Amino acid sequence: MPHRDSFSLRRWSHEHWVLASLFASLAILVGTIVPGFASAMRGADAAANRSILPLALPPLQLADARANAASRAWQVVTVQSGQTLGALFEQMGVPATVMHQVLELPSARQALSRLRAGAELAFDLGEAGELRGLRFDRDEAARVEIVAANGDFKEKVIERPLERRVMIASGEIDSSLYAAGEKAGLGPAIINQMANAFSYDIDFTQDLRVGDSFQVVYEEVWRDGERLRSGEVVAASFTNRGKEFTALRYERNGKSEYFDLAGRPLKKGFMRMPIEFARISSRFNPRRKHPVLGTVRAHKGVDYAAVTGTPIMAAGDGRIAFAGWQNGYGRTIVIDHGRGYTTLYGHMSRLGKYKVGQRVQQGSTIGYVGATGLASGPHLHYEFRVNGAHRDPLTVTMPKPDPLTGAELARFRATTAPAMAQLKRVEDVRLAAR
Ligand SMILES: [Zn+2]
Repeated sequence: MPHRDSFSLRRWSHEHWVLASLFASLAILVGTIVPGFASAMRGADAAANRSILPLALPPLQLADARANAASRAWQVVTVQSGQTLGALFEQMGVPATVMHQVLELPSARQALSRLRAGAELAFDLGEAGELRGLRFDRDEAARVEIVAANGDFKEKVIERPLERRVMIASGEIDSSLYAAGEKAGLGPAIINQMANAFSYDIDFTQDLRVGDSFQVVYEEVWRDGERLRSGEVVAASFTNRGKEFTALRYERNGKSEYFDLAGRPLKKGFMRMPIEFARISSRFNPRRKHPVLGTVRAHKGVDYAAVTGTPIMAAGDGRIAFAGWQNGYGRTIVIDHGRGYTTLYGHMSRLGKYKVGQRVQQGSTIGYVGATGLASGPHLHYEFRVNGAHRDPLTVTMPKPDPLTGAELARFRATTAPAMAQLKRVEDVRLAAR
């Protein structure tokens, strides 16, 4: 099928050829396809899932054959939570002086000084308990092997190249996004990424309808022929109540973001709700009777009732303009987002780690729900101001992010074209199969 070459994404593995031919035959078979298509997709992914390996150090075939003499027995130890490297070496009966010798090696110092609970180290101890060798994974793509030689230690870094394989899936909603994603063979990480990418346009808790559908092109990370984990969503489209949204991953200034077909970031300047797990308890209202004071007073924001301690997020990127106590509002944060936009968050039980003048990113936790100031119960009081005037955060027209232009737009179109084609093809097969 050489004509399919034009569709190849980065590395087009054997699996994909199989998958591609699968699609080809499915396309021919139309009519009888719907269940066949779904199970074929599931089957392909299930096969991949089967080979997930935990971070355990597999028997190392990469090691020098002589070093692997039968007399050697590697002991694998797992770093426990709160355990220091010193304690771990002590547990293995290796003196601190030897540990410090090992730590003089650059790779060892770098990796062993920031070991996490669950990481594994393999010790090769001699008859007298002396350290003959040590192995560990520096990261996903490199294993370090330290060998004793003439009273000193030498290190060897074994590169274990990662391979990113491109996968495709599609599905239709019959109950929830998660159920449909799972049915299509997607893991929770990929479903989450897809939901996040579209979260500015689709409210998955309220807008989802039976019959909504999606297509997704995503990566899986493989090493030495084993599937390690799922990678990133490369492209996705979601049809919600007849309207199609597309997300294309594109790297700008070293950061991966999702853009629509026109090259406009999906991530908006502001989140509509700066809090999760909350319900609206009071709306924006210019003539409301104040629940505590009993007088008629404009309610210049939206109240979200939530459990005390629920995290409150910065609605957009900006700079902390105020962090402290304000009459009535209790513990309060004000963020200046530039271009005349400011947001206020009141009644917090406690403030986050940000100080006045510090920059915050959209979605960062800036404080926690409470009932400080004049509040009848724990809630977030949220205000949105444009050039000093209060606006209803639920209905105000949010500023649109700037689309890519010029050379950047051209580069975007060129780099996302293969994923776009892939997405289109999955959709065509799905539609043909209906
Ligand atoms: Zn309020």
